[in-house]
Amino acid sequence: MIKTDVLVIGAGPVGIFAVHQLGIIGLKAEVVDNLDKIGGQCIELYPDKPIYDIPGLTECTGKSLTKNLLDQIKNFKTNFHLNERVEEVVKEKDNWKITTNKKKIFLAPNIIVAGGVGAFEPRKFLLKNAEKFENNGIFYSIKDKNLFKNKKVCIFGGGDSALDWAIELSKFAEVTLVHRRHEFRGAEHSGKIARKFEKEGKLKIKTPFQISSIEGQDKVSEITIKDDYGKTEKITTDYVLGFFGLIMKLGPIAEWGLNLEKKHIPVNTENFQTNKEGIFAIGDICTYPGKLKLILSGFHEGALAARACFKLAKPNEKYRFEFTTTSKSIQEKLGIKKSD
Ligand SMILES: Cc1cc2nc3c(=O)[nH]c(=O)nc-3n(C[C@H](O)[C@H](O)[C@H](O)COP(=O)(O)OP(=O)(O)OC[C@H]3O[C@@H](n4cnc5c(N)ncnc54)[C@H](O)[C@@H]3O)c2cc1C
Repeated sequence: MIKTDVLVIGAGPVGIFAVHQLGIIGLKAEVVDNLDKIGGQCIELYPDKPIYDIPGLTECTGKSLTKNLLDQIKNFKTNFHLNERVEEVVKEKDNWKITTNKKKIFLAPNIIVAGGVGAFEPRKFLLKNAEKFENNGIFYSIKDKNLFKNKKVCIFGGGDSALDWAIELSKFAEVTLVHRRHEFRGAEHSGKIARKFEKEGKLKIKTPFQISSIEGQDKVSEITIKDDYGKTEKITTDYVLGFFGLIMKLGPIAEWGLNLEKKHIPVNTENFQTNKEGIFAIGDICTYPGKLKLILSGFHEGALAARACFKLAKPNEKYRFEFTTTSKSIQEKLGIKKSD
């Protein structure tokens, strides 16, 4: 069991900055995110797109913003628990007991829900036995590409992830890329490389085809694909990878007894507390009159929620407002070394 002052649910830009605001007032946070990387929508949906409305930054990208936000909290040595979805939240005396899908348990007087539009989850194969082989032959993300070395791999999808992985894995695996249309949705440049690799015999491409069955006993051994006219082909394979994009599910957040308004959590704008004492909601997931779904709004919301967390985390201490420019204690917390 992990005890902390605040459990932050969601490692999007707003969750990360909340860790900063908690850290400078001396509160320890742990962060859980369902994704395999930090950055929320900025990293998952638009890592290389320019953003022009982060105060003080003329231009940044989803990727560079995430990097800068992480640099800003590096001295707090925060633990990020990735690939874990918070499933259950129950009250236990003065604390909240939070359990993830991997059965990790946190105990904290405060929770900050920075869950954006909910947990991102991959779109999956709709075949009956696809679930049986999940993580045992069928994957929707790649953690270690070495697994596929010298193996037969079928990749499904026509977007950037499918193209990028087909190109990358074809360097050391026998890859077949299958897509339901002739045209790819991903970057034109990647599509061209894939077709060039096909011509050079480095990659097989099957379009327009869709999966129709998966065969195998303990693991995947063969799949059948079919085109729009019913023509079928069998492919012997060790692995099947599906890259069909992500769906966003509010998921378990709806089960924690929080008031909900059209899949958003109403909050009190004085401190961003929900209808439950000690549970705060900030960023895209919260709603209140005039709410703007912008990163900069989430930063402000996190600053106020962090101060409110102080009361429950340190009931015998009084919170004192200080500026970062002049507070020695904040600068020490941030690890800033002054020469004078
Ligand atoms: C294409 C695009 C362009 C945009 N451009 C701009 C722009 O120019 N300027 C701007 O200000 N905003 C922009 N936005 C909006 C901005 O990205 C969002 O406002 C911002 O990402 C919200 O941050 P967040 O931290 O609240 O949520 P998110 O970034 O959505 O992160 C939430 C995280 O919580 C996780 N999560 C949810 N539920 C759980 C759970 N139960 N357990 C574990 N983890 C969970 C999710 O996996 C996710 O990683 C843009 C959005 C898009 C899609």
